[in-house]
Amino acid sequence: MRISRMAAVAAAAALALSMAACGDNGDDTGGENPDVVESPTFEAGTTMAELSEAGKLVVGTKFDQPGFGLQGLDGTPAGFDVEIAKLIAGELGIAADDIEYVEARSAVREELLEQDRVDIVVATYTINPTRKERIDFAGPYYVAGQHIMVRADDDSITGPESFEAGDKKVCSVQGSTPAENIQEYLANAGEQLVLFDIYDKCVDALRGGQVDAVTTDNVILLGFIASNEGEFKLTGEQFTEEPYGIGVKKGDDAFRDFINDTLEKIYENGAYAQAWESTAGEFDDNTPTGPAVDRY
Ligand code: GLU
Repeated sequence: MRISRMAAVAAAAALALSMAACGDNGDDTGGENPDVVESPTFEAGTTMAELSEAGKLVVGTKFDQPGFGLQGLDGTPAGFDVEIAKLIAGELGIAADDIEYVEARSAVREELLEQDRVDIVVATYTINPTRKERIDFAGPYYVAGQHIMVRADDDSITGPESFEAGDKKVCSVQGSTPAENIQEYLANAGEQLVLFDIYDKCVDALRGGQVDAVTTDNVILLGFIASNEGEFKLTGEQFTEEPYGIGVKKGDDAFRDFINDTLEKIYENGAYAQAWESTAGEFDDNTPTGPAVDRY
């Protein structure tokens, strides 16, 4: 087992313990097991009616990102995205235990929805026009921004411009927006850009010195910094906006509306803030208020 995975698993276990210590049930609206609406009714033939009737929701999420979606010792992921998925399930009358999680690596998220292998994708998933050609997005429910992470003792990279000289290597993930965005700063993308399927592998490559930096969304990087104490730091400023949406099958407007309604409800009733505070809030205490959803 690689060190970063062990650290990640330890972080997940610590988080699970702290959640248990807070008391994870009763009258809370977020946290580990949010409220489940009893026998909700939906118009026949809608995705909501089908899912509610089946009593099961299949969620595509990340398995290697501390704070957002990180697989724990029991195989179940934990994090802000997972909490958002549980809150949506709760509105469908589906308990957290009846969610099935499928790993949604960056490059396969559209495919998972197109092939009906998941019902929703909640996976640090930036809303953009290219992706909207294949799927639809509810949300945004959070706005992140691309940033750069380096080894804690490295002061030679100060922002994306530091890659213009062509001598530094940067790692990101296949099929991600940061992997696209960074290219305009690279003198020689073929040499300088190292791509893996998951961020965990970039973190290992940075630790091992095979690359000089990792780039993706700030909140993902903060999760890696927090779970690998003293090893890494952010450098420079955020240089893009990454609005996170919940992916649904293309054309399922009623389901998208339902998820947007649910987001507005959880912004309002405090469950959203609680979901943040019990997960990514462990290393980022800027609890978001919930961005306006885009009902396009
Ligand atoms: N938010 C970016 C994206 O959707 C980066 C994070 C990720 O790869 O999940 O591509």
